[in-house]
Amino acid sequence: SAGYKAVLTCDNVSRSFGGLQALKNVSIEIGPGEIYGLVGPNGSGKTTLVNAITGFYPPNTGSIHFRDKQIAGVKPHKVAGLGIARTFQNVALFKGMSALDNILMGRHVHMKPRALASLFYWVWAEKDEVANRRQVEEIIDLLQLESVRHEPVEMIPLGMQKRVELARALAAEPRLLILDEPMAGMNQEEKEYMVRFILDAREALNLSILLIEHHLDVVTAICERVAVLNNGEKIAEDAAKDAMSDPEVVAAYIGK
Ligand code: ADP
Repeated sequence: SAGYKAVLTCDNVSRSFGGLQALKNVSIEIGPGEIYGLVGPNGSGKTTLVNAITGFYPPNTGSIHFRDKQIAGVKPHKVAGLGIARTFQNVALFKGMSALDNILMGRHVHMKPRALASLFYWVWAEKDEVANRRQVEEIIDLLQLESVRHEPVEMIPLGMQKRVELARALAAEPRLLILDEPMAGMNQEEKEYMVRFILDAREALNLSILLIEHHLDVVTAICERVAVLNNGEKIAEDAAKDAMSDPEVVAAYIGK
């Protein structure tokens, strides 16, 4: 449609590890405000695609554009600074630190090198302190984390730790948020909460989201479109409901 501009475009992205081709000519496009699902059996290449986008393992061939900038091969911290934030499959919070300090950590992509030179100094750097606090308070509000803000993260229930991780990613003020199995290990109630918070965050912060998720009920509920990977190849891309009933897709899942 007129004025449409993709936020992220991966064009024929391939990546090998030794003799193994983990990604084969994968192309996807994520629009503004879109929640785009990425599904497929274990080992199908989902994390490899995310690693290609975020600069951890650049593609061998193909191009990746984020808001018109070519980012294939750009270093991870630069990609983060451009506005792509990511959460990980396993909770990766800083133990011994409070939820609040963990969330403040997400701000580091906007810190000046001088502040970064001294570890943790930036947290208290007067100049950025006020803006950081205000922005972080908004996120704490949005994700309803008031009650755990001063708790050491390891004391917080797992479902809520995932929410602290989401908050930390949002603190970086991304335009594209990549969520790697945000519902892993959650019970039904925690999943429903997480779905709501993801939708709220998209709305409030004007985000596009790439969602890797094994809970297919969640994918069909919140993704506009979905790509299905199998053996490093995109075997289907469709409106979420249709892709999930594709016989080839069903076979790929049952095959594992
Ligand atoms: P998924 O996220 O869908 O489970 P991955 O992208 O993690 O799949 O893995 C795709 C394939 O690439 C797997 O065979 C995996 O072993 C391989 N792979 C992924 N990352 C690496 C790496 N850093 N080194 C070697 N092989 C890798």
